[in-house]
Amino acid sequence: MYDVVIIGGGLAGLANAVHLSQSGLKVLLLEKNNYPQHKVCGEYISNEILPYLEYLEINPFVFGAVSIDKFLLSTQKGKIISTRLPLGGFGLSRYALDNLLYHKALSNGCIIKKAIVENVHFIDDRFKVVTNEGNEYFSKFAIGAFGKRSKLDFKLDRNFVKNKSPFLAVKCHYLGDFQKDLVALHNFEGGYCGVSKVENEVLNICYLADANVFKRYGNIEIFRQEVLCKNPHLKALFSRIEPIFAKPLTISQISFSEKEIVADHILMSGDSAGMVHPLCGNGMGMAIQSAKILSTLLIDYLNSGKQKREVLESAYANEWNKTFQKRLWAGRFINRFFSNQNMLDRGLGALRLFPFALPLIIKQTHGTKVSV
Ligand SMILES: Cc1cc2nc3c(=O)[nH]c(=O)nc-3n(C[C@H](O)[C@H](O)[C@H](O)COP(=O)(O)OP(=O)(O)OC[C@H]3O[C@@H](n4cnc5c(N)ncnc54)[C@H](O)[C@@H]3O)c2cc1C
Repeated sequence: MYDVVIIGGGLAGLANAVHLSQSGLKVLLLEKNNYPQHKVCGEYISNEILPYLEYLEINPFVFGAVSIDKFLLSTQKGKIISTRLPLGGFGLSRYALDNLLYHKALSNGCIIKKAIVENVHFIDDRFKVVTNEGNEYFSKFAIGAFGKRSKLDFKLDRNFVKNKSPFLAVKCHYLGDFQKDLVALHNFEGGYCGVSKVENEVLNICYLADANVFKRYGNIEIFRQEVLCKNPHLKALFSRIEPIFAKPLTISQISFSEKEIVADHILMSGDSAGMVHPLCGNGMGMAIQSAKILSTLLIDYLNSGKQKREVLESAYANEWNKTFQKRLWAGRFINRFFSNQNMLDRGLGALRLFPFALPLIIKQTHGTKVSV
């Protein structure tokens, strides 16, 4: 029997795996894909989590992470505003970052298997985790780190999957000229596009779009030309870069609805617990930080002797809400502002008059460096 089974090996699952196995627990991580893999993501990571990564003995800069401390925002019509990022961040591909954590977890003694988890049952104070090949694994604790939306969410009958979400996202890596220390967010009809450098001089471009607007064009290339390139900055950018991927990666059904932090005694981490709008640029930071909160509480709980598991569950839910609720709320508010171009145009005018306000708004969706 394992101490902990972690379902899903993205950033949240892997960070929990590294942390818990570092402290000597018997941990199994089940991930449906192979490592390394490209993932749809903006790949700009807030510096918030650097102290925690250091605690996990991971240094992204050794693997070519690029420091980023400038932010530029443009409206559909091409008006721009820029600022220094209060805390700054770095660019590293998910291909590299997930892989780094994967190898660290393995070297800490965590067992990682490729498997699709089909179901999780909580019986007699322990978990039975069942894979699609019929394998069964037993554990004292289960961590759900299966991302934004998984078949498991339907099995667990989670509320947020009952509503369809109108968002899809597209990502591709490119070669071409772009300022290294900058993350840019360019608006277009029904969405926004993040641009920043990652390791090896590669440029990552990732956009979130309203599926209803996308449907009118039905094709990534036409959508790029007819919608994204209406923003003059995106038009100029796409004219000077070359894609590296044979074709872009896509995902759909991205939901920003509220989720339960604990479902059927499974402790949710990362996007499985809640997802912030990507325009805030700190979903990865939150995923990793949620692992820090959960792993720390879990280890403390185990060290404190026999208490009811509900004590751990409510402590985790409280701490999660205390740390992230304000950011999620701010993210939703800013997103509403972004989706109304007239409001954004007017807001940008006001921000130009009061330049100190933009860093203050950015701070609402970020915390301070995570203490360890
Ligand atoms: C368009 C877009 C742009 C973004 N840009 C940024 C950005 O620039 N900066 C930032 O900080 N954040 C960004 N984010 C957010 C960030 O990508 C997520 O918050 C982060 O990936 C969450 O990590 P996670 O580990 O929770 O989920 P994931 O990384 O999605 O990992 C979940 C894992 O679970 C596995 N899994 C799922 N179901 C099962 C199953 N049944 N069995 C086994 N394995 C399973 C999946 O294969 C996956 O590997 C962006 C998100 C989107 C959509």
